[in-house]
Amino acid sequence: MQQTVYEVGKNLYINLTNRCTNRCSFCLRENEDGYKGYDLWLDREPSVQEVIEAVGDPKKYKEIVFCGYGEPMMRLDELLEISRVLKSKGARVRINTNGQANLIHGRNVVPELAGLIDAVSISLNAPDAERYVKVCDPKFGERSFDAILEFTAECKKYIPDVTLTVVNVLSPEDIERCKAIADKLGVGFRVREYER
Ligand code: SF4
Repeated sequence: MQQTVYEVGKNLYINLTNRCTNRCSFCLRENEDGYKGYDLWLDREPSVQEVIEAVGDPKKYKEIVFCGYGEPMMRLDELLEISRVLKSKGARVRINTNGQANLIHGRNVVPELAGLIDAVSISLNAPDAERYVKVCDPKFGERSFDAILEFTAECKKYIPDVTLTVVNVLSPEDIERCKAIADKLGVGFRVREYER
């Protein structure tokens, strides 16, 4: 059965879409059938109402996280609608994103997140545009990298908790360069475990 939401630790993750503008070499979508025993391939994308019902009482969880298999901000309207309901029920809401929402939607969408999203984790995954293209194979090409940095700077204006992340398959030198980018933007930085 397809998994619209799934629990990991004290958090609940929302699997809104399998679509993404990247094809990262380390993506679980490319390599695995599921995650921690959950089948995350969707037969069809869930409706707003289905997600809200699947979440139930959001206060049972530390955080509700829009995540994947896929890029949740592909479905921006639904994400905002769901967040509005979950916030009204007292949830803390985070988005895990590839940071390309402004390219995807052709406008700066970050102000629309204000007051609805408490935290955003943005996958940086490379210290420069050339490396980003090699690792993530983005639909928007090299300009994706600068767009992610601009998106991050915008998020800092509207969202209380902003973090850039990298996967620990990068070399220590590249991880340091990514951290320097996060420091320069004045946002948090986290190295994620590559999970198989
Ligand atoms: S951005 Fe995330 S969902 Fe998209 S391909 Fe990369 S790891 Fe997978």
